[in-house]
Amino acid sequence: MKKFWSCLLFGLLFCGSVKAEERNRIVITGPDRQLQLSVYCSQEGVPSYAVAYQGKEMVKSSPLGLKTSIGDFVQGMQLVGHALKDLDTTYRQSRIKISEVHYVARELRCTFENEKKQQMTVVFRVADHDVAFRYEMPRQSGTTSLTVYQEMTGFCFPEETTTFLCPQSDPMIGWKRTKPSYEEEYKADASMHEPSLYGRGYTFPGLFRIGGNGWVLLSETGVDSRYCGSRLSELGEDGTYRIAFPMAEENNGNGTVAPAFALPGTTPWRTLTVGADLKPIVETTVPWDVVEPLYATEHNYRMGRSTWSWILWQDGSINYDDQVQYIDLAVAMGYEYVLIDNWWDRTIGYERMEELIRYAHSRQVDVFLWYSSSGYWNDIEQSPVNRMDNPIVRKREMKWLQEQGVKGIKVDFFGGDKQETMRLYEAILSDADDHGLMVIFHGCTLPRGWERMYPNYVGSEAVLASENLMFSQHFCDEEAFNACLHPFIRNTVGCMEFGGCFMNKRLNRGNDGGSERKTTDVFQLATTVLFQNPIQNIALAPNNLTDAPQVCLDYLKEVPTTWDEIRFIDGYPGKYIVLARRQGDRWYVAGVNASKEETLKLHVELPMLAGKAVLQYEDDKLKNPQVKPVKVKADGKMTVKIQPQGGIVWVAE
Ligand code: CA
Repeated sequence: MKKFWSCLLFGLLFCGSVKAEERNRIVITGPDRQLQLSVYCSQEGVPSYAVAYQGKEMVKSSPLGLKTSIGDFVQGMQLVGHALKDLDTTYRQSRIKISEVHYVARELRCTFENEKKQQMTVVFRVADHDVAFRYEMPRQSGTTSLTVYQEMTGFCFPEETTTFLCPQSDPMIGWKRTKPSYEEEYKADASMHEPSLYGRGYTFPGLFRIGGNGWVLLSETGVDSRYCGSRLSELGEDGTYRIAFPMAEENNGNGTVAPAFALPGTTPWRTLTVGADLKPIVETTVPWDVVEPLYATEHNYRMGRSTWSWILWQDGSINYDDQVQYIDLAVAMGYEYVLIDNWWDRTIGYERMEELIRYAHSRQVDVFLWYSSSGYWNDIEQSPVNRMDNPIVRKREMKWLQEQGVKGIKVDFFGGDKQETMRLYEAILSDADDHGLMVIFHGCTLPRGWERMYPNYVGSEAVLASENLMFSQHFCDEEAFNACLHPFIRNTVGCMEFGGCFMNKRLNRGNDGGSERKTTDVFQLATTVLFQNPIQNIALAPNNLTDAPQVCLDYLKEVPTTWDEIRFIDGYPGKYIVLARRQGDRWYVAGVNASKEETLKLHVELPMLAGKAVLQYEDDKLKNPQVKPVKVKADGKMTVKIQPQGGIVWVAE
């Protein structure tokens, strides 16, 4: 155990680098002393913080503070006290990138007081690569509740910074007025000064490249029914991004944008993951390190793979006979689940669904069923509707699901990020656990620590997922680019239910029309390792049993969906990625190349495979999948070529 914590409380006399007007400044470092957090009041009494890594400025002086119903905690503040504590905990978690997490950090509590002598405490946790902080508000002068009108929290990056951000969409636009749903396109290496597409700021998480000095990933975690989901504002004239609350029009205009909680209470955590390179960004566990399970479960949820007809065969496949084909496909692949998507209540009906579920069970396949979340917050007609928005109806429905032995639900088309929608997510999860049901969300917000907070939570879309490859050639053309972003950004902070791995070359029911896949088969195989979600809905169709390469089918029968460990190997967001995941004592190493023209030649170090016999899946010159046994050298060094929009996978024997 390292015990070299450094904490320095500088008085005015002792530190020349501190502005004379600053009342005081607290500087702490993380356990390995590379990451440094400074907290202080500016000359106007604005609570502020800054972050440096290896002596280099990563986040410049940035404001803290809240405007609330009980008073403002914004300026004219004084730092009146602080306390330090060492944290060293271990927790287990089967549904994220690492199964046993050792979290070591130093906690700093800074209490600020406004001119009315009201107090606000900012709690910081500094680990080797992560800073998390949140606001704690005590009961004060008989007030037991608080509404936050505005969070002043800012993020000011050095001028050389470039961004990898996803714009927030306008509210109430898109399919049946269902946006925002975190399904916009990222821009890579953009200028901070370029406005976002809609002028609505950006959704979390956001990645920032601090010139040659390193990287910062911003996100938030611990959002539950006691707060809203937040986003990043446009860059302000002061060069600072700020926390922004949901837009008033979200949720069909219903519900407040100002979150509220009882006192004493806390906000969610704001998180910054910092590194000289991208390894800490890809490997971070901060979304789960600082949250706690909100309830225990008595159920033993089984993760695994699933078939789902909707992705290629669409609405027309939600009938009894087609679903039998997909149950049989799950049997042929050895998959645990079948997901039956929208309209099943109309096109199959509840009675025949009971029969279909019995058929699935007779073949040792378990069932997920689709529901709309709505509700009054959009114009979705896809049914079942109005089953998840009301607690009386919801519990009746879940009782039926439990009686049928259904194991999970996929709930789609949520209304935005307001606190009342966060309450709905939590209510669905909590009621579902009472009925032994796992929950996947689609058309939804980013999960924010939910894998650890809710034991039956098993995935969220919140990304331009596989369906877009069906909908438009543009997304097929950009598939490789997007796949090279997710492991660094969206998927590093939470489960990503992408629903991918196509073996069809053409994305329609006949495998003979519709949009054309531009990525290779091995690229598709690699995404099963690159994209992490504990339940993987694989985009296979029954025809693939005879028209897909046997080497791919064999791989897809074996590939796991839960992991014990992750190692970032190499990559650059939007260009290429190579990463390794371990389940048990078996490592999978997967890489893909986003370039449309150029073969990527890489020298990689794979210490986890050193001296081992592995199976190497790669594209041949004609981009057909090949597998061959390879013995990795004792030093673990490999030279590899990845075809344009192609992939590579090594599987340890
Ligand atoms: Ca969607």
